[in-house]
Amino acid sequence: MKYSQLFGKTIRDVPKDEVSTNAKLLIRAGFVSKLGAGIYNFLPLGWRVHKKIEQIIREEMDAIGGQEILMPALLPKEPWEKTGRWTEPGKEVMFQLEGRSHKEYGLGWTHEEIITPLVKKFVSSYKDLPLYLYQIQDKFRNESRAKSGLLRGLEFSMKDLYSFHRDEKDLVDYYQKAMAAYQKIFERCGLNSLVAEASGGSFSKYSHEFQVLTPYGEDTIFYCEKCHYAQNKEIAEIKANSKCPECKGKIVEGKSIEVGNIFQLKTKYSKPFDLNYSDQDGKIKPVIMGCYGIGPSRVMGSVVEINRDDRGIIWPESVAPFRFHLLLLSENNQVAKNAEKIYNKLLDSGQEVLFDDRRDISAGQKFAESDLIGIPYRLVVSEKTGDKIEIKKRDEKKSELAEMKELLAQFVS
Ligand code: ATP
Ligand code: MG
Repeated sequence: MKYSQLFGKTIRDVPKDEVSTNAKLLIRAGFVSKLGAGIYNFLPLGWRVHKKIEQIIREEMDAIGGQEILMPALLPKEPWEKTGRWTEPGKEVMFQLEGRSHKEYGLGWTHEEIITPLVKKFVSSYKDLPLYLYQIQDKFRNESRAKSGLLRGLEFSMKDLYSFHRDEKDLVDYYQKAMAAYQKIFERCGLNSLVAEASGGSFSKYSHEFQVLTPYGEDTIFYCEKCHYAQNKEIAEIKANSKCPECKGKIVEGKSIEVGNIFQLKTKYSKPFDLNYSDQDGKIKPVIMGCYGIGPSRVMGSVVEINRDDRGIIWPESVAPFRFHLLLLSENNQVAKNAEKIYNKLLDSGQEVLFDDRRDISAGQKFAESDLIGIPYRLVVSEKTGDKIEIKKRDEKKSELAEMKELLAQFVS
């Protein structure tokens, strides 16, 4: 992609009401644009990152048997009345609105009330189970504190997977698999996540949250320095400086961001919707359920909160919008031609390159913008580099000069 043609460039002025670091950086660097509190447009750079995060999640959900579907975001009132959630939490969380003939709707903030009756249409026998369905879609929540940029949107993306089982043992087995898949997802996104025990609601003792430590997090957890056992402060039985119940290591307190949350729902939703199946012995039994959420947009915000310096973002390679940021630093036509050639060679070998081909911008500004945008490898072509290319990693000081051949050998397998 040529930067001269890219929609959404770096900007100097961030909206005055924007206080979060992730949103400020993402706005300045041209990844997102703010529409209102907790509501953001994703520009081409930002959407590329979002899609990479989605793709990592998709691959890991498919690997544990997930089938991708898409449910509507506009939801009629009736199924929510069945569970009582139309009034409790009701408008506290759900945007509710009226259509024609006074018909009432709400915008989806979670989808148990939709998926349970949907699955009931197709599942009736033990032969239909287990079943794992997920979607990646925008959710809407009437959040009271929308001041954390992508970490807490009124509209935000969520991957929600729902699992359906014959018995609790099968649910628990799958729950462990999902936990491992979640850890892989965050690792692949460049995030170090801890699994913290959290409130399990009325239906099980604990749920599990995937928490990323950072002083900018909204949550507080107690965790073991040694084995990483953790509990959310809201329900904690352990406290700072106590001994870890698992390994006797030291428990410490830390701020963190919840990037994922998994629950054993058991029969909480299958009961009100009569989602039952007939077992091998002919008995009718309730389907046992689990649910598993991750916010890709919150993951993106978290990656920015954690991977940055005073000059800008430092994207991990796996979710970076491009792998290379090629800068042309010359007014000379011959050098420009050479840069263009290098750009095309990289494209031909399947690389993702952002090419700052602009002629009227100073080297200083290009360097500053490149650091702000945070693409992993900066390539410079100038009069000084001659036939070679200067390569520098975003998070390192040293640079090296290499020939095109060497560059390709190093990066293209
Ligand atoms: P929180 O406690 O932070 O309000 P939650 O426990 O209500 O979140 P879940 O319903 O478990 O969140 O949602 C699953 C995932 O969706 C969360 O782990 C998070 O990654 C993401 N998420 C939830 N609310 C938001 C939001 N307002 N903006 C962005 N992402 C969100
Ligand atoms: Mg949660």
